[in-house]
Amino acid sequence: MKCTLCPHHCTADRAETLGFCRAQREPEAATICIHKGEEPPLCGNKGICNVFFSHCNLQCIYCQNHQISSGSPTPRFIGVDAIVDEIARLLPQTENMVGFVTPSHYADSLPSIVEGLHARGLYPTIVYNTGGYDSVETLQMLAPYIDIYLPDYKYSLPDLARRYSHAADYPDVALAALREMYNQKGSSLPTDEDGLAYRGIIVRHLVLPGQVENSLGVLDTLADISLNLHISLMAQYYPPLPNLPDQLGRTLTPDEYQQVVDHLNTLGLSRGWVQELDAQANYRPNFTHQQAF
Ligand code: SF4
Repeated sequence: MKCTLCPHHCTADRAETLGFCRAQREPEAATICIHKGEEPPLCGNKGICNVFFSHCNLQCIYCQNHQISSGSPTPRFIGVDAIVDEIARLLPQTENMVGFVTPSHYADSLPSIVEGLHARGLYPTIVYNTGGYDSVETLQMLAPYIDIYLPDYKYSLPDLARRYSHAADYPDVALAALREMYNQKGSSLPTDEDGLAYRGIIVRHLVLPGQVENSLGVLDTLADISLNLHISLMAQYYPPLPNLPDQLGRTLTPDEYQQVVDHLNTLGLSRGWVQELDAQANYRPNFTHQQAF
């Protein structure tokens, strides 16, 4: 089967060869673990069962999860059944939520995973945690299976998207994906009596050092979709690798971050979360360990 799952449209037959994401047909998870570092309505007190898929369809040069987006270390869980087994084992210890992290290149396996959980009598809230480079057709296929979309919107500047993530069309493609998510879920984020979300969208944006203009454009775009969108503004960037270009070799300055926060407030995007600048020291996963966080 020629793969057109994501907007790269490689048409690679993944049983025979590899496309841009370098993923084979069978879904591979580098790790599956309980994570307590997501936004509060997504993890509550007990956390969310996150499936960290191997490989990625963006390959950002500064990827904070570069150990797994590159396909190593060796995936711990291969195939739908193995992934369902591990989710089922961990789910009772969580807030009954499952996060599919960087799932775009395995989107065609997600319905089988969700149905496998249902077959065991498990009905968790399903979170689709994506870099944002998704095709509208794939999102429409996924609509019955996803409760909450958690997309990034990384770039407003095509040249930056090209240089950092090999996808000059990211601003337009990710915007079309966001509009599809919005069509499916709207802007509300309803929660249960424990404050846990069960439907909706949260859009994340990681502010990059030296790229304030990009972030201001991102917020302008999100404001155009709806001022009621829930936005998670993130300051946690740190240089995950040596010899990165531009100013990617450092963390954000307080002034850079404040400019973006001020713009968020000026636009009236008042729903969501603004990370503290000291988050830079807190998000440093190591996926070579059984417990990555
Ligand atoms: S999912 Fe992978 S192989 Fe398929 S179109 Fe996207 S990058 Fe290419």
